[in-house]
Amino acid sequence: MNYIDLRSDTVTKPTPEMREAMAEAEVGDDVFMDDPTVNALQAKAAEMLGKEDALFVPSGTMGNLLALLVHCQRGDEALVGAQSHIYINEAGGMSALGGIYPHPITNQADGALALEDLRAAIQTDDVHHAITRLICIENTQNACGGIPLTAEYTRQVGELAREHNLRLHIDGARIFNAAVALNVDVRELVAPADSIMFCLSKGLVAPVGSMLVGPQGFINRARRLRKMLGGGMRQAGVLAAAGLISLEKMIGRLEEDHARARKMYELLQPTPGLKLAASPLSNMVYFELSEDVKLSVDQITKAMKKRGVLVEAAGARRFRWVTHYWINDAGVEQAVQALREILQ
Ligand SMILES: *Cc1c(COP(=O)(O)O)cnc(C)c1O
Repeated sequence: MNYIDLRSDTVTKPTPEMREAMAEAEVGDDVFMDDPTVNALQAKAAEMLGKEDALFVPSGTMGNLLALLVHCQRGDEALVGAQSHIYINEAGGMSALGGIYPHPITNQADGALALEDLRAAIQTDDVHHAITRLICIENTQNACGGIPLTAEYTRQVGELAREHNLRLHIDGARIFNAAVALNVDVRELVAPADSIMFCLSKGLVAPVGSMLVGPQGFINRARRLRKMLGGGMRQAGVLAAAGLISLEKMIGRLEEDHARARKMYELLQPTPGLKLAASPLSNMVYFELSEDVKLSVDQITKAMKKRGVLVEAAGARRFRWVTHYWINDAGVEQAVQALREILQ
């Protein structure tokens, strides 16, 4: 069965053009840095983000972990969003593998970490304290609603970081969604950061892979750690070939996903039994079931599947529906119609 799959943009299968490019990719051993397709992808990613170099990594989680490991020593502290992917959804890797202490900062409703909260969290030189090394922000901020953080906000965080001799890492899993939503050059969004991770495997439709981007010395150290973690991938050009198509062809169409998320929101809004927040700014619609709905999220998930739509709970009474390349207007309408029938 061909499901309408709204669980995530990670479910995007490669396009026929990607599969063809993968089949024909020129490859080499990337651990020897001789895979021309990986090298081309890394050069292109670095150029597009306005940084010196980039590293192809198997997942966003590994990219973020490498950044944390390069920026922090054991016992150092990183300021992270309490609702960030790094803090909640990366299996505690920074602590387990890096001995890095996460200091969670409450996310504001707009996804940002308030500058005064960051300032207050930065530890003094007192021997009682861990040494604060790093600030991590997430753009778009997933759990807060797929919200883009502005270039001006990022500039202010960068300034605060420099004032206190801290590094700034951006978990930019969906940084191109943010750039498109804000209509700014992605370079402007990442200029204040020492490192950025972004995913090819989400809205950019590639089957596998993320990029870690930053200065040469940072990337050199990250490459050694990638090998240590088992992420040296040999003929990875077959994957990088799809990633190149992501960067060339998939960014320009992200606005379609955002428009469909807005349409989904408008169709969901009048549905009795649902509580929706503000209109979505990127490709995610979050909503909650109101108290009068007797069905559980699990019951709704099963009933949706029977109607050909895959969804996933994002909390005890909460859903997140995500638009992507393989979701068209008819799919959005069918999904909303199915939910209406179930709730009636
Ligand atoms: C998906 C995601 C990641 C990690 O990516 P994986 O490739 O799934 O490991 C990191 N940060 C955010 C905000 C994400 O949404």
